[in-house]
Amino acid sequence: MKPTYSIVAPIYNEIENIQPLYDRIHQVMDPVDGHWELVAVNDGSTDGSREALHELYQRDPEHVRVVDFARNFGHQIAVSAGMDYACGDAVILIDADLQDPPELIPEMIDKWQDGYEVVFAVRARRKGESWLKVTLASLFYRVLYRITDVSIPLDTGDFRLMDRRVVDAVSSMPERHRFIRGMVSWVGFRQTGIEYERDERHSGETKYPLRKQLRLAWDGITGFSYFPLQLATWVGFLIAVLAALTIPVVVYLRAFTDAEPLKGQATTLVSVLFLGGVQLISLGIIGEYLGRIHSEVMRRPLYIVSETLGIDEVQAKEHG
Ligand code: UDP
Ligand code: MG
Repeated sequence: MKPTYSIVAPIYNEIENIQPLYDRIHQVMDPVDGHWELVAVNDGSTDGSREALHELYQRDPEHVRVVDFARNFGHQIAVSAGMDYACGDAVILIDADLQDPPELIPEMIDKWQDGYEVVFAVRARRKGESWLKVTLASLFYRVLYRITDVSIPLDTGDFRLMDRRVVDAVSSMPERHRFIRGMVSWVGFRQTGIEYERDERHSGETKYPLRKQLRLAWDGITGFSYFPLQLATWVGFLIAVLAALTIPVVVYLRAFTDAEPLKGQATTLVSVLFLGGVQLISLGIIGEYLGRIHSEVMRRPLYIVSETLGIDEVQAKEHG
């Protein structure tokens, strides 16, 4: 039987990009042997993207699937929903802004047919993104690589092809704070990468301001590492040892010399403030993990769907 390919695209205010995205996917996928579907997850857009997707569905109900969220739930959740609703033998995650060229998909499919279950795209170069973003991202991936047990490949986004088994495995992971590229590495299977040059956004502004980027980075770190928690232990040890070494020195100076060590309030104040800062940071880190435990314990559904188009309800698996 011929394989089915699902292309999952999260959409948040991408009205200008929907038609070009569809056109390019159509062009790329038509010569490919097999059936394909575009699963567009509308993540609470406010710019008419929803209507544009409905129109697209009316024109091509054979290939277009639409999942409409009740509000904005965020990129990683939208991708997760797309994976839940996709029914392909292979699922391809792609950004809707055409920064990930659909022309790379046939190459991914080749690797998949060679037996790889995950084919991720490595960003060899990024065009049209700010120096700050590229530097921060590059630093983040390297820190993450060092402090986690899973080997998350450097400089990869969510642009990737996954075999059905990988999709099912990732979908069965119930966590709320999702860092999909990490989760895909975590499940294992045979994985390989292909390099590509990341294009500029086709149209519109980035939907990932620094605040959201940092949140995603934290989700990546807290989801796959306890290192920040252990940091408090190590800093604690370091300061305790330093203090223990200083005590006999201070006692000696006090008892046997005229020197007046640690004279004045400034010294006391600075050391108290320093320690207070370290303690607050440690508390904050515990708070980050605690907040995540809290949101897991509440067990709210991961997302709320208001409407679907072209989706067979029996096939659609509810998540959360
Ligand atoms: N996106 C989303 N929900 C959000 C933010 C972004 O579905 O809350 C989608 C967005 O429409 C795009 C993809 O996620 O298809 C990546 O976002 P963006 O291109 O803004 O990120 P960047 O490439 O700048 O990191
Ligand atoms: Mg983008």
